[in-house]
Amino acid sequence: MEIDAVRGPLSAAEKKRRMDNRLCLYCAASGHFANQCPARPKNTKPHNSAGSSGSPENSTPQD
Ligand SMILES: [Zn+2]
Repeated sequence: MEIDAVRGPLSAAEKKRRMDNRLCLYCAASGHFANQCPARPKNTKPHNSAGSSGSPENSTPQD
């Protein structure tokens, strides 16, 4: 598996190269940008809001 270089911080040169080529800054693919990257996890909602609007799934004990 060679995934070590994929998620690392981009160098300035690599970042510029991707922007020049209109490549995704996240996965370096063309056709989309990092904010629409399909390889990016979409669940960006914080999970630590304890009962703000009353979700029934929030009161499930895990032990
Ligand atoms: Zn991408």
